[in-house]
Amino acid sequence: MLNRTIYEEEHEIFRKSVRAWAEAEVFPHGEIWRDNGCVSREVWKSAGEQGFLCMYADEAYGGLGLTDFRYDMILCEELGPREPGFFVGLQNRIAGPYLQNSADKPQREKYMPGAVSGDTILAIAMTEPGSGSDLAGIKTRAVEDGDHWVLNGSKTYISNGFLADLVLVAARTNPDASHDVGLFWVETDTPGFSRGRNLKKVGLESQDTAELFFDNVRVPRENVLGNPKGGFKTMMMNLAEERMIGAVGFAARAEHAFNITMAFIMERRAFGRAIGTFQNSRFKMASMRTELDAAWALTDHCAREHMQGRLSAEMAAEAKLFTSEVEGRVVDECLQLHGGAGYMDEYEISRLYRDARISRIYAGTSEIMREIIGRGLGLDERQRN
Ligand SMILES: Cc1cc2nc3c(=O)[nH]c(=O)nc-3n(C[C@H](O)[C@H](O)[C@H](O)COP(=O)(O)OP(=O)(O)OC[C@H]3O[C@@H](n4cnc5c(N)ncnc54)[C@H](O)[C@@H]3O)c2cc1C
Repeated sequence: MLNRTIYEEEHEIFRKSVRAWAEAEVFPHGEIWRDNGCVSREVWKSAGEQGFLCMYADEAYGGLGLTDFRYDMILCEELGPREPGFFVGLQNRIAGPYLQNSADKPQREKYMPGAVSGDTILAIAMTEPGSGSDLAGIKTRAVEDGDHWVLNGSKTYISNGFLADLVLVAARTNPDASHDVGLFWVETDTPGFSRGRNLKKVGLESQDTAELFFDNVRVPRENVLGNPKGGFKTMMMNLAEERMIGAVGFAARAEHAFNITMAFIMERRAFGRAIGTFQNSRFKMASMRTELDAAWALTDHCAREHMQGRLSAEMAAEAKLFTSEVEGRVVDECLQLHGGAGYMDEYEISRLYRDARISRIYAGTSEIMREIIGRGLGLDERQRN
């Protein structure tokens, strides 16, 4: 088994405190949250009180000034597999970095304290009913009107969408140029903003995923993130980090599935012996262990590159592609090793199996990851002409 060397002693101490807090404040609520289709606002506040949200934020905003990516990896490893509905990675390493790295000082002053305390739940809205992979196809429009921009359109499949207080919305700012996209901080109590259904899904039952509607939503000029035509570049910059935090979560869920399956196959007996001792089980577990170790090796390598500011879009795509595909294979094999029990809701593996299916789709599908990696190899016809 791979000896992961990415963490230092202080990270393991942090892991223990996250684990103790999660056992008390997060995991006991899982069933209720799954029934409700979302986690509570209180858990966000509780995480904020612990100092677990947007740790990189300046102390002036209540943060810890702790930019070390590994602390967020640990949060993700500890929380993700057992309570995926509490999408801390989205707050900390998907939406939060736009505030930290791309927002101007007044925006940071206004929104970062709430993001740190858990009073302001963040979401990011790119996908629309008509376009997901093809971001250049988005139709939500932003039109300048005096000292405001007026937004019209809709978004879908937005994580944290039901609870969010502040949504970073991608909208076209020039009808004639598909790559002219602006990013707008939209407070969800702004007139004209509304939410549709909290969407029912295959898995991630406790994670709220919503449709958002914009009907003449007036966004003050101060809420434009950077250049109103330069949103694409900003999104591309941040997507590598999104894919990295995803990769950590996917590998962690697969690892958890592996661990609970180990326990199950040593307990469960058939034909007079523990099912784990059949050669088939042994070989399956050995293959999965190998894949998991490869997933962690790649993830940790990319995390180190990311911390050095050297992670390329292609390597982030490789990490996202590989870990999500390994996760898919591992949860499937692990469910099989559980037999009929694996198909039952009361066995955790059934939930892990359902939760894992999204990993190959969001944050860019496996096909789009292959496109990015393939383009990096110079294998795009358009690059050759
Ligand atoms: C639970 C959940 C949470 C989400 N959270 C968010 C969120 O918080 N914010 C947000 O903005 N979005 C979010 N999404 C949207 C998600 O990122 C998109 O669903 C995803 O990018 C795919 O887009 P699509 O659904 O439009 O599929 P499509 O783009 O229509 O793709 C359909 C199929 O075609 C394939 N395909 C598309 N283009 C190509 C190509 N060039 N080559 C080969 N195959 C291709 C795809 O790989 C896929 O298999 C979420 C989605 C889900 C389900």
